[in-house]
This record gives sequence, structure tokens and C-alpha cells, in this order.
Amino acid sequence: MVSQAETLFKKSDSNMKHYIETRHEKFVTDFQTIVNIDSSSDNKDGIEKVARFFEDRFRNIGLDTEISFLGKNKVPCLYAEHKQENKPFDIMFLGHMDTVFPTGEVEKRPFSIKGNKAFGPGVCDMKGGLLVVLHVLETLKHEGILDSLSVCVAFNGDEETGSNASKEWIMSTAKKSLRTFVFEPCRPGYRFVLQRKGGGWFHVIVKGQEAHAGADPEKGINAVVELAHKIVEINKLNQNNTETSAQVTVVTGGDKVNIIPNRAEASVDVRILKIEEKERIETFFKTLTEHPYLKGSEITIQGSIKRPPMEPGDATYKLWELIRSTGKKIGLPMEWISTGGCSDGNYTSATGTPTIDGMGIVGANSHRADEYAALDSIDNMVLLVSQVCRAIGEENELRR
Ligand SMILES: [Zn+2]
Repeated sequence: MVSQAETLFKKSDSNMKHYIETRHEKFVTDFQTIVNIDSSSDNKDGIEKVARFFEDRFRNIGLDTEISFLGKNKVPCLYAEHKQENKPFDIMFLGHMDTVFPTGEVEKRPFSIKGNKAFGPGVCDMKGGLLVVLHVLETLKHEGILDSLSVCVAFNGDEETGSNASKEWIMSTAKKSLRTFVFEPCRPGYRFVLQRKGGGWFHVIVKGQEAHAGADPEKGINAVVELAHKIVEINKLNQNNTETSAQVTVVTGGDKVNIIPNRAEASVDVRILKIEEKERIETFFKTLTEHPYLKGSEITIQGSIKRPPMEPGDATYKLWELIRSTGKKIGLPMEWISTGGCSDGNYTSATGTPTIDGMGIVGANSHRADEYAALDSIDNMVLLVSQVCRAIGEENELRR
């Protein structure tokens, strides 16, 4: 027998689903509007235009909304909140308004639709995700759920260039929040992101001594030979089971075939899965300067592990279980993956706030001209996130 509560729940579920479906065309119109605003990371006016679009809509549903200009480059960032008393935010909605595409890209290939796919600069990374946030909040408002939640929205304008101006702001907002949802694209097949590698770049610079390679080799210190030994050492970082990767990607050194080179350089891309690896790797590079293979060569190192890894903990898995079971009820496959690429989720997760990424529109081919968003994921993602928010709100009501 179906209980009364269950019937009620199912009714409110189908009401919400119906409401979201009636707004599908509105989502597509909004999609066209914001994809057709050029907003590369260096286009502050474009980013601000995107921010103004959201500012209006968030204010319409009663969120306290503000656009600030962060850092010396005055990066436009949008903040909105609906807060209850002095409680932490139940959910932080995190996204970025900048794209990797240069100004003028929209004119070349504006928003377009072919079958189930929408195309255009930033369509899945991550203008579709920003709209999922907006339509979720509008749905929660319409369904009378917003008042049972404390939520905040942080949309920055410099993610694609490393979030230098917004990193601290994002981390301090995450510290005030119980959970963070990041709206980077959901992978095809409804695969979400719970784990991301962290990492950084290191540069090894070797100074040797120039000399004629034929006439007086004994007077030279071969910087390339010294660097070659260091490269072998660096490559050994890949040999243990820590899943850390250290890839020497760029090497320069030497000038003429008959001169012993006095300078050589290598760049190294390092990715780590566990935060403990940060110290081990940084210490490794520091000690690399101490024991030159060739007497008299000098080694200097630049760089550090800048992005911490996004590591799921027990609270993340618990949150994922809520999302997974909610998605299953809607009929979505629901899986999670680990990836080597970074997002601002690396920063929120490093504050200890459970973070789930890939909550945006389903799509693929980010940073490429064939980037697309799947139109049939619009209603599903808005419904999924709205229902997860409702479940969190209901939990709050029970605790009162
Ligand atoms: Zn992105």
C-alpha cells in the first residue's frame, strides 16, 4: 500500500518535473543569450555582461546579489545568497563565467542547435552549468522550497586562467558552506566528478660553464649533461604507487655543436592525487639542487604544487549517495569518475567542504570548437539538482 506521505511526495515530484519541462524553451532562449556574449578571461566587459544577466534574475527571486571586481585586474565576480539566520550555507553553487575562446568567436560560430546538441563558445564549459544553477533556484522558488534552505552562488571570471584573483574568495565562501556543487560539465552517460588531481609546474635551471668542445673540454661544465641526470631522477617519481605523475615536457639547452653548453632548462608538469604528496614533491625538487653530478654546476628550481587535489572523504561519499539515489529515481545512469584536470572544486575541497563536480549540463569537447551540450540533459539536470536541494531542505525541516 502506498502511504499518504509517499503519494504527496510523488505528487510534488511530478509537479516539479512538469514545471521544469514547461520551462525548457526558456532555458534554451537563455542559453542562446549567454553563449552569444563573448566572455574570454581577458574580456572583462563580456564577463560583466554575463554577470548582469544573472544579477537581474537572481534579484527577481529575492537573492541578495552583488557583483564585485577582484584583484588588480578587476575580475568581475558574481555573488548571490539566500541566508537564514546565522547558519552556514546548506549549498554553495560554484561556477565560472569566463571561457577560453577569444573575443570575436561568437561572431564566427554563434549558438546553434543540431539535433540534440547545442554548439557555441563555452556551451558546456560552462554556460550551460550556470543556467542549471539559475533554473534550479527559480524552480526552488516557484515550488516554495527556497525558504527552507540557506544557499549561496559564486560565479567567478578567471577560472580558465587559474582563478588567481578569485581563489581566496572562493575558499572563504566554501568555508561558510556545508557542501559545494561545481557546475563544470557532467560527462556523457551522467558521470559526475568526485576526484581531481592537483598539481603544479616546476622549472629546473642548470648553470654550467661554456668551453670549446674540441679544444678545451676540461674547462667546461656541461649543463645539458647535468640536466640529463636530473631528468632521470625526476622521472623516477613515476615509479612508485602514489599515482603521482611527473612529466618532463619541455627541455632546452645548448647553442652550437662545438660549444659545451653553459645553460639548460627543463619544465615539469606534476599531478598529485593525495595532498601528502605536495610536501614530498616540493622537498624532492628542493634537494635536487644539492648534489650536482658535475662538480661546479648550479641548479635552481622554480615552481610549487599550486592546486591541491580534490579528494573525496566520507562526507563526500555520503553526499554522492544522496545525488546518486535521486538520479536513479529519475532514471539516470549515475556514475562518478576521477580526472587529472583541475577546477575550482580543487580549492573548495581543500577547505574540507564536501565537493561534487560535474553538476552542470551534459557535454563534451571543452576548449574545442566542437564543444557541445546535450539538450536532453537540460530538464534532467535541473530536476536532479532541484530534487537534491529539496531533500536537503527536508532534512533541515526535520531537524527543527
Ligand atoms: Zn570550466
